[in-house]
Amino acid sequence: MDAKSAQIREQALRYSSYDAISLLHGNIFTGLLMTFLAMSCLVFGFDNPEVYPLKLYFWIATVVVVVLRLADTLYWRISLRGTSYNPDIPLLRFSLGAIATIIIWATYVSVLYYHLDTLEMMSTLVILSAIAGGAATILAPSRLLVSLYCTLLILPVSVLAITDIRNEFNIIGFLGIGYWLVLLAISLKSNSFFSNAIDIKRVNESLISELKTERNQAAKANEALRITNEKLDNSNATLEEAVMRRTDDIHRLSNRDPLTELLNRAGFNRHLESVLKTTRELNNSLAVLFVDLDGFKQVNDGLGHQIGDKVLVEVAKRLARFCEPDHIARWGGDEFVIALPYATRDTAIAVAQAARSGITIPIIVEENQILLDATIGIAIFPEHGDTASLLIQEADVTMYEQKRIQPGTVGVFNAKIYNSIKEEQALRSGLRHAIERGEFSVVYQPIINGSDNSVWAAEALIRWTFNDTPVRPDIFIPIAEKIGLIHEIGDWVLNRACIDAAQWVMENEVAVSVNVSVMQLMDDNFTGALDRALKSSGLAPERLHLEITESVFADNKEKIQMQINAIKSRNIHISIDDFGTGFSSLSQLQTLNFDTIKIDRAFVQNLEEGSDTIIGATLLIAKEFGYKTVAEGIETLEHAERLTRMGVDCLQGYYYARPLPIRDLAKWFEQHQQ
Ligand code: C2E
Ligand code: MG
Ligand code: MG
Repeated sequence: MDAKSAQIREQALRYSSYDAISLLHGNIFTGLLMTFLAMSCLVFGFDNPEVYPLKLYFWIATVVVVVLRLADTLYWRISLRGTSYNPDIPLLRFSLGAIATIIIWATYVSVLYYHLDTLEMMSTLVILSAIAGGAATILAPSRLLVSLYCTLLILPVSVLAITDIRNEFNIIGFLGIGYWLVLLAISLKSNSFFSNAIDIKRVNESLISELKTERNQAAKANEALRITNEKLDNSNATLEEAVMRRTDDIHRLSNRDPLTELLNRAGFNRHLESVLKTTRELNNSLAVLFVDLDGFKQVNDGLGHQIGDKVLVEVAKRLARFCEPDHIARWGGDEFVIALPYATRDTAIAVAQAARSGITIPIIVEENQILLDATIGIAIFPEHGDTASLLIQEADVTMYEQKRIQPGTVGVFNAKIYNSIKEEQALRSGLRHAIERGEFSVVYQPIINGSDNSVWAAEALIRWTFNDTPVRPDIFIPIAEKIGLIHEIGDWVLNRACIDAAQWVMENEVAVSVNVSVMQLMDDNFTGALDRALKSSGLAPERLHLEITESVFADNKEKIQMQINAIKSRNIHISIDDFGTGFSSLSQLQTLNFDTIKIDRAFVQNLEEGSDTIIGATLLIAKEFGYKTVAEGIETLEHAERLTRMGVDCLQGYYYARPLPIRDLAKWFEQHQQ
């Protein structure tokens, strides 16, 4: 039995005392009536004057006890039944009443036994047996009372009968004992039946009430569940709304610029694609304008981002007047893109000019008068491109190029310029990985002494194979300079050339001549790089020549002088490359400590057109300052002979050798010596 059942049972047993008292009181009227009638019958029914007064006392006592018990029952009925009270006290009162009745009967029989004649005796015994039989049922709810009743009513009179010296009632006495035993057994049995019934009833009631409570609780839980479900449904609905709102927000945020509320890149790209689709179907044209503000950076830097933001909002409004809604986007920063369906080249230019004028009208923000302009690039569908992204890119590149030429103007896409810019972009990104991908190599072109045809030096010239195509150094070197990669590339060539030169076998220990960009020369780490290259290769410094272009004269004079002195102090030879093409300053030629002047091949190849005058002048200057001279671009014997005659010291050009990979150089050298 689990704890819960035990608790129910205990409670049920407490309630069974209530049930017992209810049953006892419920049956009492019959019992009392029987007692009263039986006593009256025995007292007044037999003519026995000897004990009549005594009998009367018993009758009175009986009446008093019956009345008191009746009153007790009435009191219980009226005031206690159905209420919660301590059942032990009414049970005690009832028991006292019952015991008093038994005592009266037991005393009555015991006292009067020898005064009764046979008839009266038999009648008394029958009545007592009947009362005892009735009591076995009526008092069954109380084990004590029912046992007492049977015992005191039957046992004393039976004992008297057995011990009676008259012998005539002995048998009845034994029968009485037998009857008493049977009655006692029946009484106890019915008592236990009653108790069980009461217990079961109570347990059932408890279980039913428990069931009711549980049912109530279940109903309450169900109700709570229903309310929760309802709430859940409501909150689900709210959640769904919120999710939809969020989705809208996300969609808006992913398509719109939060500051200007214009479409952003992604939004505009999609929109333009769909506009282009219709344009294509209708066989129309469309112009894309890429607008970039001039002077906005100063606003942002000088007046702060908050004012900058307000300016952008105002510019967005002004630009939006020139196109349909959603045909304009903020591309990023201070860049805007506009789509003009149906626009031809002329209308696009006209609209771009008007938009520019709109922007040039002063913008007033928080008492600041802001003056801006814009540079605009135009690309036209289908003439220049077929897709949204291509047209935007073309308009962007056009704007970029236009800004380089003249900010605050409008330019229309030009395929040639665009391709060269795109090519440069590709080269830029290619250059960034060229060293690690091993795409560079170095070739060597011999420089010959004009006087005795011996080899004086070999010029190291870099080669780059990008996407299986050779790219000329005069194309990629300026790009490497622009993006700051020249230092890395220059170091690589320097090291390669020093290592190669340290290993090659040519008479007189031929020098290696390495081209050095002015940017490299101006770098504070350059002399350190030189030292490292010489040290790691083991090349003698006298065998290293550096070629610096004439543009070096335009740079910071003091710094150049310092660097040249540092190089010269290491016994490294310095040549001025491409002499005559740039702006040489005679005074600097004098102050800077060079060794050689390399006359540009343009003069050599234009000898016939009178450039020999320039060569003559150069040779004069070189002689004056004590410089050796080298003529580049010698392609014919005639060139060689003529320049030697003019007094040039050394010659370099295809006539002698093309720039050669290191292994071919050795072969060439062997042939050259024969
Ligand atoms: P540069 O230093 O004046 O080099 C001579 C250029 O003339 C080389 O072109 C060479 O191939 C070419 N050349 C030599 N002889 C003849 C000839 O007889 N006829 C013709 N038409 N051309 C001849 P390359 O190799 O294309 O180099 C071009 C320029 O690129 C070089 O001019 C130099 O300024 C630069 N450069 C080459 N390698 C490097 C390098 O490693 N570092 C730096 N900073 N610049 C380099
Ligand atoms: Mg050179
Ligand atoms: Mg040159």
